[in-house]
Amino acid sequence: MNQQLIQQVEDICATRGVRLTPQRRSVFVLICENKKASSAYELLEQLKASEPKAKPPTVYRALDFLLEQGFIHRVESTNSFVSCCSFGEHKHFSHLLICDKCGNVVELQDDNLIALLNSNVDKYGFQYSNHVIESHGTCQTCSSLEDHT
Ligand SMILES: [Zn+2]
Ligand SMILES: [Zn+2]
Repeated sequence: MNQQLIQQVEDICATRGVRLTPQRRSVFVLICENKKASSAYELLEQLKASEPKAKPPTVYRALDFLLEQGFIHRVESTNSFVSCCSFGEHKHFSHLLICDKCGNVVELQDDNLIALLNSNVDKYGFQYSNHVIESHGTCQTCSSLEDHT
């Protein structure tokens, strides 16, 4: 596990005056270590390895905290979670590329895209709380594997 990353998260929590409890920390580490997006159920099973008494609310509360702090993103279309690639910044919307073969998720941040969405939404006097921008398909690695077989 990338100690630097954890240290960064701990520093941000200290600055914001919020607590990275051992459970929150463990859930975050698991999400970072998992190669593909993690579901709450998978995280619970993995958490039980170190905390046999972990219950679903333990995981949900940790996920809520991590989402709230912008350390992770929810992949809405698969109801799973990935770590944010630039969590030093405040909450942001991102465009997720989701590979249906290996489950890998790439986070893109395109300010122009978000600005366009915001201006479209504004035209309707709509108060948005969330944008979901997710593309499904095959990642470069998986499609190159296909080409060679
Ligand atoms: Zn992000
Ligand atoms: Zn893939």
